Amino acid sequence: MKAAVVHAFDRPLSVKDVPVPTPGDGEVLVRIETSGLCHTDIHAAHGDWPVKPAPPFIPGHEGVGIVERLGRGAAGLAEGDRVAVPWLGWACGACEYCASGWETLCESQRNTGYSVNGGFAEYVVASAAFVGRVPVGVDPLDAAPLTCAGVTTYKAVKVSGARSSDLVAVYGIGGLGHLAVQYARIAGAAVVAVDVVDSKLKVAHELGADYVVNAACEDPVAAIKALGGADVAVVTAVSPKPFQQAYASLRRRGRLVFVALPADNHVDIPIFETVLNGITVVGSIVGTRVDLAETFELHARGQTRVIRESRRLEQVNEAIGQVERAEVDARIVFDLR
Ligand SMILES: [Zn+2]
Ligand SMILES: [Zn+2]
Repeated sequence: MKAAVVHAFDRPLSVKDVPVPTPGDGEVLVRIETSGLCHTDIHAAHGDWPVKPAPPFIPGHEGVGIVERLGRGAAGLAEGDRVAVPWLGWACGACEYCASGWETLCESQRNTGYSVNGGFAEYVVASAAFVGRVPVGVDPLDAAPLTCAGVTTYKAVKVSGARSSDLVAVYGIGGLGHLAVQYARIAGAAVVAVDVVDSKLKVAHELGADYVVNAACEDPVAAIKALGGADVAVVTAVSPKPFQQAYASLRRRGRLVFVALPADNHVDIPIFETVLNGITVVGSIVGTRVDLAETFELHARGQTRVIRESRRLEQVNEAIGQVERAEVDARIVFDLR
């Protein structure tokens, strides 16, 4: 099968022929139709984070495709089902986190496209219990970005507790941010979108953002304070500065949700203001299987729009460059059909 493989962190991916994997106990073989390119895949390929994957490996955690073969004991699925293979590839199901609805925090979890091979390939093996069912009528090109960008921002808005009377600031309008805007709108909140690229802000406005701020020409903190300050700020931008700006744009009792994972891992937050203003800072990592099902459900009901551009898998390195240079308004999806 064709796959995009990382051989070394300082080299481009190579698109080559590798053997089709065999599903083990409780696993399924999925023939990939579409596969989204997330910034996490780029960090994985570069070995940017403290915990690194081990080359050679196949990135990709927004793979969507058809179940082609069931391994022994793979329950709940049939050949021909369309499924999504998310970042949370497997969790133990028994630890304190799994048992309390926080399987995304399981310390034994396996991560697709990171600790196990992912969806930048014609086939992937996945745990039958952890794939998401893609509802009939959802376009596989839409389903791919929903599998990480969608569920991640859906969960971030959920943990923020955003309500109809809130002002939600979304910092960074890309694959994640354009969906965060929509989930905040679905929660009924007013939304202010912040980015440094006008075309992305135009997308945010079309998707329902009430206000847009170009942080390259205007101070987003002053602009948001002029609106009364944000009750919630969700940060999907990949450098520390927007995290700091997002913090500063909160009103009292504001909630700051960290979502993006910049290679530069530190941000300065003042203790005094955090205490006196009653600020909450919370990290939010992807979403559970239930969150993913809800994300798909909203899309099937026509509540969300996915902005994406298709590429062939052979264009993977070029696509990574375009994402790094912020030349893509939202998501790139590899179409392997
Ligand atoms: Zn992702
Ligand atoms: Zn667990």
